[in-house]
Amino acid sequence: MCGIVGYVGSRDAYPILIKGLKRLEYRGYDSAGVALIGENSNLNIYKSKGKVAELERFAESKDVSGSIGIAHTRWATHGEPNDINAHPHYSESETLAIIHNGIIENYAVLKEALMVHGYTFKSQTDTEVIVQLIEYIRTKNECSLLSAVRLALSQVVGAYAIAVIEKGKKDRIIAARKSSPLVVGIGEGEFFLASDATPIIEYTDKVVYLNDGEVAYISKESGLRVVDLENHEAEVDIKQLEMSISELEKGGYPHFMLKEIFEQPKTIVDAIRGRVNVELDNVVLSGVIDNKDKFINAKRIVIVACGTSWHAALIGEYLIEEMCRIPVEVEYASEFRYRNPVIGDGDVVIAMSQSGETADTLAAVELAKEKGAFIFGICNVIGSSIARATHSGAYIHVGPEIGVASTKAFTGQVTVLVMLSLIIGKLKEVIDESEYIEVIEALGKLSEQLKEILKINNQIAEMAKIFTYAKNFIYLGRGYSYPAALEGALKLKEISYIHAEGYPAAEMKQGPIALIASELPIVVVATLDSIFAEIIRNS
Ligand code: GLU
Repeated sequence: MCGIVGYVGSRDAYPILIKGLKRLEYRGYDSAGVALIGENSNLNIYKSKGKVAELERFAESKDVSGSIGIAHTRWATHGEPNDINAHPHYSESETLAIIHNGIIENYAVLKEALMVHGYTFKSQTDTEVIVQLIEYIRTKNECSLLSAVRLALSQVVGAYAIAVIEKGKKDRIIAARKSSPLVVGIGEGEFFLASDATPIIEYTDKVVYLNDGEVAYISKESGLRVVDLENHEAEVDIKQLEMSISELEKGGYPHFMLKEIFEQPKTIVDAIRGRVNVELDNVVLSGVIDNKDKFINAKRIVIVACGTSWHAALIGEYLIEEMCRIPVEVEYASEFRYRNPVIGDGDVVIAMSQSGETADTLAAVELAKEKGAFIFGICNVIGSSIARATHSGAYIHVGPEIGVASTKAFTGQVTVLVMLSLIIGKLKEVIDESEYIEVIEALGKLSEQLKEILKINNQIAEMAKIFTYAKNFIYLGRGYSYPAALEGALKLKEISYIHAEGYPAAEMKQGPIALIASELPIVVVATLDSIFAEIIRNS
């Protein structure tokens, strides 16, 4: 879910594309690549794992001519970050090249069908399926590339921003989007394409933000045309850019953390994409289902994590015990690795880390593995060390987290833990059917609810001003809100340098109540759940 850049015009495309990729580097990525239609009309693809600078080194002695091209920074969701899985991807005949940001949910079914028709796949990505499907439809229907893209996308379920170019066709790029951003920049006799306007702004301030379900035909000769998937002409609404590059990078937010907080309605959808089916009341996490015996027969589950992930893990403990009736322990990975924990065959160890590189968590994984436990990873970064070291796992799919203080990863981790608990509870036949359905439906509503909460952001900011004097804070919660209180206190410490403590609300009476004074702000996390009355009474 990282970056797309495209150019069609009269200038050399390659330097514009590389510069554009560099502008998008702030979004985080694991590999980069470019496709160009050269002077001789050939379609050349250069790509490599790692930084854009590595791509440049790789392409140094290659033919980078041409005034049309597409380029990509990848944040892997399907298939580990490597040279082959990097984008662009060729179609079977190598006449089409595609770049894609997003996740295709039904790629496995489409891939199987295409393989029956003789299509072969070089990468492990979901993306390659789109370009193969476009080529298949194009050949079968003998239609235009635009029609083939439209028809292919009508069969695709998931999120995408794509750009496609074709060997020999130096005039045009076809681009489309659904749930992943895409902007077209309009210059004089030239067009730019990008995930956000940062690569475009130095060339033009006229942009068109594509809407969901729109396909753009971007032609140097005939201009920009936008249609929907049914080929109805769509309005081309040209906007004037007014933001600076640094404002654009942060999506108009003053910093990345706020941007990522506001991304949550989308990242929650990405975390459950292709996994939760609200209509069918069904949840699938293949990493759990493929190892169901390990979970069903687990004597206990130990979750190892650090920092924010540790707080998400505590919520996991409550969830798994409630829905699956398996005893759960939550351990700081940094403690676990240096003591001699009793762990062995029959234990399932869940390791949680956004980056998948947290050194203590990785060491805890190695230790638990040595002792014979089955290890399940919950990470964000595909192919990260913890993801590789575990026996199985589930990614949270929330996209790169740039802000140092974790936000969207926390909600992504909790979401995955909810799905995991539902699946195991169902497999063990211990979860009540009505609760199972209720939780699935609640997952389906989460994104909209988050949007509602974010609407009161300004009120929250106003209220925060009242408390800037404070030297100490207390956060209280009970039940599922207790780990949320811990996480709140951690965030306040990390971000505002104000000392804060999270506490189980009812434990206040065991001593800490002595700290209460008129100038001590207390944040009480009180949700309308089964213990709402208790927290209000705080008895
Ligand atoms: N799902 C695609 C992949 O894993 C695209 C990832 C991205 O958005 O960068 O290659």
